[in-house]
This record gives sequence, C-alpha cells and structure tokens, in this order.
Amino acid sequence: MDLRHTPEDERFREELRHWLDETIPRQGDSPPPEAGYKAQREYDARWQRRLFDAGYAGLHWPSEYGGRDASLAQQLIFAEECARAQAPFNPTNFVGLLHAGPTLMVEGTPEQKAAHLPPILRGEQTWCQCFSEPSAGSDLANLRTSAVRDGDDYVVNGHKIWTSMATMADYAELLVRTDPRASKHRGLSWLILPMDAPGIEIRRIKTLAGSLEFCEVFLEDVRVPASHLVGAENDGWRVSNVTLRFERGTAFARQIYSMQQLLHSMLLAARRVERGGRPAADDAGLRRRIGRLQAELDALRSMLRLSLSQAARTGVPGLGASALKLKYSELWQRAAEAARELIGRGVLARDDVADLPTRQFGWAALGSLQSTISAGTSQIQRNIIAERILGQPKDR
Ligand SMILES: Cc1cc2nc3c(=O)[nH]c(=O)nc-3n(C[C@H](O)[C@H](O)[C@H](O)COP(=O)(O)OP(=O)(O)OC[C@H]3O[C@@H](n4cnc5c(N)ncnc54)[C@H](O)[C@@H]3O)c2cc1C
Repeated sequence: MDLRHTPEDERFREELRHWLDETIPRQGDSPPPEAGYKAQREYDARWQRRLFDAGYAGLHWPSEYGGRDASLAQQLIFAEECARAQAPFNPTNFVGLLHAGPTLMVEGTPEQKAAHLPPILRGEQTWCQCFSEPSAGSDLANLRTSAVRDGDDYVVNGHKIWTSMATMADYAELLVRTDPRASKHRGLSWLILPMDAPGIEIRRIKTLAGSLEFCEVFLEDVRVPASHLVGAENDGWRVSNVTLRFERGTAFARQIYSMQQLLHSMLLAARRVERGGRPAADDAGLRRRIGRLQAELDALRSMLRLSLSQAARTGVPGLGASALKLKYSELWQRAAEAARELIGRGVLARDDVADLPTRQFGWAALGSLQSTISAGTSQIQRNIIAERILGQPKDR
C-alpha cells in the first residue's frame, strides 16, 4: 500500500492553501462574543458562501447537492489545511453541515434532500439539535416529547433542553415519541422542525462562562407537516443513531486537526517558559508528556481516517464512532491540561501575556471541559464500546 499523497492530492493542497491565504484576510476576524450570535451567524454564512463559490463546501457531499465528491485523502487535507490556516469554523451551523445534512443524505426523501441540502451548503439554512430533555440525556430513549398524528400534520408537545444555538436555527433535528405504547426505543420518530412554527418558545440558559448558546425549547401544540418525517414512523431510534454516528464519528475532523496547533504552540511555549532558571523544554518529563500526546494524536487521526472511509464505503460511520469520540474528547482535555500546567495562572488571562499563547491555552482548558459530555458522555461511549463492539454483558 502506498500511503503517500498522489500528485493530484498535492495539487489540491497547494490550490487550497493559496485560496485560504488569500481569502481568510478578506473574511476578517470573527465578531467578538459581545456582538451576539446573530453577528456570528452572518459571519459564518459569509464564510460558508465563500467556500461554496470556490468549490470547497461539503467536500464529501455528492455533486448533485452542491458537494465535490472529494476523495478521503482530499477531505483530510482540507481539515488539515483549514486547521493550519486557522480558517473560520462555522460554529453556528455545526449541526446542519456535519450531522443533519449527512443524516438527510442517507435517510431523507428526494424532496427533503432538495429542500435542505443545497441551502445548508450555501450557508443559507442553519440547524440545531432538539434531542435532549430534562430526563433524557444519556438515556435518550426515555424522552417524553410527544407527536400525535392529526390529518397531514403531527402535533408536538414537550420540552427540550441544552439545545445549542436554537435562537439561530431555521430547522431542528427533532426526536419525538409517536407511539407511547411501544417499548421506549421502538416508539420514536425523527422530524424536521421548522423553528419559526407557532407554539415554539425558546429560553436561553446562561452558562458559568457567561455565554448564551444553550437554550431550552418549549413546544406547545406545534404542527409539523407529516412530510417532515425522516425515515419511517416509530423508526426514529435507528435514524437518531445515524445522526449520532455522524456527530461522533466524522463531525470532529477539524477539531482533531486543530489539536496539532495546540501541541505545536506548547512546544514553542516550552522554550520560552522558565522553570528553575532553565527553559521548560529542557525538562525530559515535559518533553515525554508532549511526545506521548503527539503519538496519541497520530493514533486518533488514524481512527478518523477509518471512520471517514467507513462512511464513504457504507454511507454511515460505524460503531467505532463512539471510540473516536471518546478518544478525541479525553485527549483534548489532557492536552489542554498539559498546556495549562505549562503556563500556570497566566491561562486565566483573556489575552496573550508575555508573548505566550495564554489566550489559546485558556480557551482550550475551558472549552475542552464540555467535550466529554456533549454528543454523549464518556461513560455512555464506554458502555457502547463494551456492549456493542466488545460484546460484554449489558450494563444493569
Ligand atoms: C456543550 C454541550 C452542547 C450540547 N448540545 C446539545 C444540543 O445541541 N442538543 C441536544 O439535544 N443536546 C445537547 N447537549 C446535551 C448532551 O447531549 C447531554 O448533556 C448528554 O447526553 C448527557 O446528558 P445529561 O446532561 O442529561 O446527563 P445525565 O444523562 O443525567 O448523566 C449524568 C451523569 O451520569 C452518567 N451516566 C448516566 N447514565 C449512565 C450509565 N448508564 N452508565 C454510566 N454512567 C451513566 C453520565 O455519564 C453523566 O456523567 C449538549 C451538551 C453539552 C455539554
């Protein structure tokens, strides 16, 4: 097997690198948090449109939906180069681009695909995820939000929580109970929820960090056309697992490549930070720690390749998506912790201090904390790996 990139892939990298170097300065800095999420959404939409116009949106999406049908190698080069250039990341449409769109590609009707996939790629349609409820997070199948068929509509009543970016979204991935008599995994359905439908109330939840991306979504007699059902009625558990496999198995590609930047910054910082009158980089223990993180990151990138190639082959990432998500989130936390320890209290600064990347390290230290909870906790990924991959007895 030849693991080197082909001349065509290298040409793709060169062109992309050139385009990023030219286009990122024209895009400008992302708006400051105090400008609000509306400004962030406009910024993200502008970037997405630039990607689309240049042929870089949805690299792995089929060309009939505006994608590029790119090879696995080119998808990885794209993630690597965007991370290297610190290109905008489009947080307000993470859901649409990385798991709602891919779910519709596999499970949607031709009408649903036509209505949603091209506008998502062009940056014109934003999505959020309405799965979790107050008593249905890890135990997602315990959800209570109901949808009752009434003529050509479903009438939805219930309460969702931890919905990221709900105020920005045009549509939501909505998981509901359509058969209350069936066993809990059997009576669920996956609906496309238009977020401007009458009967939806959104309340923001302020986090400890002061940010406002989390929301609660209250649904009272919300009418959703039956044509918005994705997959069959009462088959929503299977469809939601397709969504979760994309979320866990392929959606974090860019973040995985960005971790390389963190390790690189740590190496540079270790030469400047002093410990006992000598550069911290002289400490063999620290060098070993960074070297180990690098080796684990290399392994993680191999897992990502496996997950992307499985998605390309079968349409959906495999169960290994849980292993990838577990490894990614825990490695990010350990790398961020090492960066924090290297600099010490300086990471509390919101800006770079003494020519050290304290802002980057501080953000990583705080930002990585949520990663072992969102998209399913580490304990839940371990349960899936134990029971469904390793065939261990079920957790009681
Ligand atoms: C940053 C972030 C963004 C999010 N965005 C969204 C979103 O956009 N849409 C959405 O629907 N949800 C979202 N969530 C919610 C997320 O999916 C849930 O928080 C997560 O699934 C855990 O559910 P919970 O918070 O109810 O915790 P619980 O399920 O109550 O779990 C509490 C603790 O018990 C442990 N536990 C529970 N069951 C088991 C078990 N069987 N075995 C071992 N341990 C167990 C868990 O691992 C955890 O440590 C987001 C969460 C975060 C942190």
